[in-house]
Amino acid sequence: MPRNQQILLDSRPQGQAQASHFKRVCSDTPALQEGQVLVRHHYLSLDPYMRGRMNDSKSYAACQPLGQVMMGGTVGEVAESRHPDYQVGDPVVGMGGWQEWSVVDAGQPGLLRKVDTSQVPLSYYLGAVGMPGVTAWYGLTQIINPQPGQTLVISAATGAVGSAFVALAKARGCRVVGIAGGPEKCHYATQELGYDACLDHRQHPDLKSMAQALKTACPQGIDGYFENVGGHLLDAVLLRANAFARVALCGMIAGYDGQPLPLHNPALILINRMRVEGFIVSEHLQLWPQALRELGALVAAGQLRPRESIAQGLAAAPEAFLGMLHGQNFGKQLVKLI
Ligand code: NDP
Repeated sequence: MPRNQQILLDSRPQGQAQASHFKRVCSDTPALQEGQVLVRHHYLSLDPYMRGRMNDSKSYAACQPLGQVMMGGTVGEVAESRHPDYQVGDPVVGMGGWQEWSVVDAGQPGLLRKVDTSQVPLSYYLGAVGMPGVTAWYGLTQIINPQPGQTLVISAATGAVGSAFVALAKARGCRVVGIAGGPEKCHYATQELGYDACLDHRQHPDLKSMAQALKTACPQGIDGYFENVGGHLLDAVLLRANAFARVALCGMIAGYDGQPLPLHNPALILINRMRVEGFIVSEHLQLWPQALRELGALVAAGQLRPRESIAQGLAAAPEAFLGMLHGQNFGKQLVKLI
């Protein structure tokens, strides 16, 4: 059995997470038992939720245990199988964690899924046709539920969730305005991803400036907002929201290192008669097949072909993860493991 490089959570951050909170080790892969499958990981997904799991505080999910392999989505191929449904070479997606190989009880529901790579690249099953894509689909269709012609805004617009969101929203005939960090990302948003406009939050670092920029970019007001960041972006959207606007509260990454994110004027939620709803995509598994069908069709049709940021080798995972939390990724952040 192969030697397996792994990254463990070594200590919990107080404030900003650092590479020193992780530890790289090497261990032997255990021999397979009946019903198990050995998976060689090709890509590891790095996602913002992992930062929350590093804390031992109140959350919707259990925290990442210290001294254990960091949790994370992976795609790869079956390298050895003692389960009749899996053959060597099958492409699979699972939650293999920050390591090069994993041994999976393939019979347990939800642990491993075979995927079709004939029209969708393997890595997309961690992004556009994976958890981030479904996240965009859920917030758009189940909370914002837009009518054609309505104006939608999304923060972290060029990332894994944002790039799927714009494809789904444009397919529904909406005007879509992104908020992203820096001119290069804003250019990518409008020239490649299909946004009607994109605002650089670094150029609008305060409420007044961002609210003014949104007023120009959204002359008909805002009907739906997909929130990934929090802070003054949410305040500015509330100022420009139309009556009965909907906010899908997906993430608040500006506060993941513990920064407070006060809401400047919550009375606007009442004044605008708004619906503001948080959600966790893994609590809606029954809708995933429907979402994945639509996302897969968009990819196959060439309407959803987002860029990816790919770090090389497991050892690069901590820095790539920390960089992604601060906007250094350009599209879905992955680590290539072979
Ligand atoms: P991204 O690929 O978008 O990467 C994170 C991005 O967040 C960065 O690239 C950066 O983009 C942006 N960002 C970070 N800090 C700030 C800040 N202070 N101000 C403004 N922007 C910031 O990540 P994902 O697409 O994977 O995730 C997007 C959001 O969705 C996250 O908040 C995540 O937690 C959430 N999420 C929630 C789920 C749920 O079930 N509720 C499931 C999956 C994701 P930029 O350079 O443009 O500023």
